[in-house]
Amino acid sequence: MPTDATPEATIDQGSEAGSGGRRAALIINPIKATTIDVEGAVRRISAEDGWDEPLVIETTEDDPGHGQARQALDAGADLVIAAGGDGTVRCVAEELAGSGTMMALVPLGTGNLLARNLDIAVDDPDAAVEAAFRGTERSIDVVHVTVDRAQDAHVFLVMAGLGYDAAIMSDTRDDLKDKVGWLAYVDAGIRNLPGRPARTTISVDGGKPFERRLRSVMGGNCGKIMGGLEIFPGARIDDGRMDLMTVAPKGKLGWLAVAGKLFVKGKGSSKDPSLEYFQCRTAEVTSREPLEVQLDGDPLGKARHMAFEVKPDSLRLRMPLGYKDPAVVSEPLP
Ligand SMILES: [Mg+2]
Repeated sequence: MPTDATPEATIDQGSEAGSGGRRAALIINPIKATTIDVEGAVRRISAEDGWDEPLVIETTEDDPGHGQARQALDAGADLVIAAGGDGTVRCVAEELAGSGTMMALVPLGTGNLLARNLDIAVDDPDAAVEAAFRGTERSIDVVHVTVDRAQDAHVFLVMAGLGYDAAIMSDTRDDLKDKVGWLAYVDAGIRNLPGRPARTTISVDGGKPFERRLRSVMGGNCGKIMGGLEIFPGARIDDGRMDLMTVAPKGKLGWLAVAGKLFVKGKGSSKDPSLEYFQCRTAEVTSREPLEVQLDGDPLGKARHMAFEVKPDSLRLRMPLGYKDPAVVSEPLP
């Protein structure tokens, strides 16, 4: 495991809270409905704790978080608070990972996969704002993903996939998502059930490539997805490893078998290859035909190649104080 010298450096700064000169940036998705005034709460706690006036920047359809996060870094923000859904969190994290600057989450909207995995309250934005300033710190892994050998890597925090899972994300109706939350994915899931398996080649940790005919291949940085379903049992967000899962239902009842396995959280003791798991630091997947790609639920269009690489401990997170959460191996930093 890499050392985490950077977090300690900033904790020292943190212990001087109240001395002024520190500044938070709030990056907020204005279309997410919330009952509390997030900006007001950030301004209030900034003032109470002796921080400078916060920088407040809204995301837009054209720039869902990257430009705003870079702006916050350029402005020298000590803490960047991402208030929004999974898309906002992912885009902000993409810029902050590796920067040493601390990030915090204020979950708004329906998904909030990272927050759920870390047991950050998703229904109490007020508490989340307070934790952003006064909570404890952790470093978590992020996973870099390169799609179709593009020059720029993306980042995901919870899970990414190629195939059926991504087809669901790209086909999920936004109007339904607003009405019924994660059940909207079930609707898209059922509509996308029929389909042919794709012929893929997979290599794990640079090892010998193997072939699989599958519907979906997913990388996980932590375990839980929509509805609290734990699809990567025992996955940890700071163990320097990602979990790769292949989904290859056989025949008409194959999906039932897959669902059964997922719901009983059995990584599968049987020889049934409909679900396979690999733990690794890097992975590469090539498909003969283009398949839909998703990162933390954001559809990215179709691609034939995906390369994954874990970047251990590269994102510093401010978390609520208290108990040890299930997605994390290490104790909170002091
Ligand atoms: Mg892990």
